[in-house]
Amino acid sequence: MHSPLPDMDLTLEGARKLDLLDPLRSFRKEFHVPKKGDGSDTIYLTGNSLGLQPKSTRSAVLEVLDDWEQFGIEGHFKAKRPWMPYHEFLTETMAQLVGASSSEVVVMNSLTVNLHLLMASFYRPEGKRRKIVIEQHAFPSDRYAVRSQIGWHGFDPNEDLIVATSEDGEPILEESTIEKLLEVHKNEVALILIGGVNYYTGQFFDLARLAKATHAAGAVFGVDLAHAAGNIQLSLHDWDVDFAAWCSYKYLNAGPGGPSGVFVHERHGNVDWSDPSVKPSLRLSGWWGHEADSRFAMPNEFIPMKGAEGWQLSNPPILSLAGLRASLEVFGKVGMPALTEKSRSLTRYMEQQILSRCGDSVEIITPSDPSRRGAQLSVRLKASGESNTPEKLNTPTPNATSQAPAASGKAVFHALEKAGVICDWREPDTIRLAPVPLYNTFEDAYWFAIELEKALK
Ligand SMILES: *Cc1c(COP(=O)(O)O)cnc(C)c1O
Repeated sequence: MHSPLPDMDLTLEGARKLDLLDPLRSFRKEFHVPKKGDGSDTIYLTGNSLGLQPKSTRSAVLEVLDDWEQFGIEGHFKAKRPWMPYHEFLTETMAQLVGASSSEVVVMNSLTVNLHLLMASFYRPEGKRRKIVIEQHAFPSDRYAVRSQIGWHGFDPNEDLIVATSEDGEPILEESTIEKLLEVHKNEVALILIGGVNYYTGQFFDLARLAKATHAAGAVFGVDLAHAAGNIQLSLHDWDVDFAAWCSYKYLNAGPGGPSGVFVHERHGNVDWSDPSVKPSLRLSGWWGHEADSRFAMPNEFIPMKGAEGWQLSNPPILSLAGLRASLEVFGKVGMPALTEKSRSLTRYMEQQILSRCGDSVEIITPSDPSRRGAQLSVRLKASGESNTPEKLNTPTPNATSQAPAASGKAVFHALEKAGVICDWREPDTIRLAPVPLYNTFEDAYWFAIELEKALK
């Protein structure tokens, strides 16, 4: 399954040729790539944890500082880009990235905060229907968030949290397993919250299929897109996702702690509140979600804005939005179709580089099917003596797991660090890599595999 493709030139010349042919090659120059001690570029492969800084970010942030200096409070209306509607400047590109209409998307707060706000509306446990389903290897913050939601409603997370787990013990979780689970717990599941791209394995779930299965079970379908936004072309509206949230500092390059995006399907948000027959969604409210025209009349009664904007609480952090604005401009120029095309060939190339040089010592747990992953490879270091046969992988012997690779594995990771490779280590034995199509090169993939081969020796 993982043998190198015959037509792939894995030499340094081959990698350089692919870079020359890459239609997106000029975009790397629009980013600051961290340097090694000798002034050369690091091999930066953690764009899935913190994306690199676009060179245009500085002026976008300075523009806000200058306007504040010049106008004080009047910057809300007089700034080059007035702060009052500033978040709206982000909406269109953001909506395109996730496949939504503008009224279904808003940028606000940070990710875990938004998950809670959305669950306040969309996790409404009642009677027997109160369970939440998440995926195995879910990101810790999501796990903490759903457990606390269950507890917040007075239920026991040990009883009402269901972790969907693969049937064969493998890291990849089949959609059919989740479907079966939903079928079994049909009358008990209130919500499924899934990582659209699982942070650990890099697996991209078939969200349309899961939305359908979730709705058939009478539950709500929510998605955490932290590792999917800016990585994979999404169609949240058409896939019938109920709600979603994501951060902007990973593939979206908005800078550390960058603001979060939120999606609320129009059937929940885009309704006419003035129609007395409409029952407004339950939500926690703040003044920024109040209808904009009358917000400053400071009325006593809360009249929500239409669409996702109605979920806003506070006036947003403009300096952070500025970083996101600069970054989204880059995405607007490239577009997801071109990005996806390069992403697929770069990830495939890196996969082949790794397997051809280090295939005996590592296993890539990320799905090899390009429709089931984005720009990520999770590379598991095999324990010494661990066999290469598929049977062995399915049923690890006690020996294989107790021969913990952690000590030597961590040494491999440190050797990579020393060689100027910036990647990510997950206990006990996995290195995560993100070959980001906006700024990583085929040559990066080549050098990574060379350095990994050296580090494994
Ligand atoms: C990165 C990430 C987070 C981080 O949450 P913050 O609230 O932005 O700190 C949460 N969930 C997932 C799935 C992530 O990948």
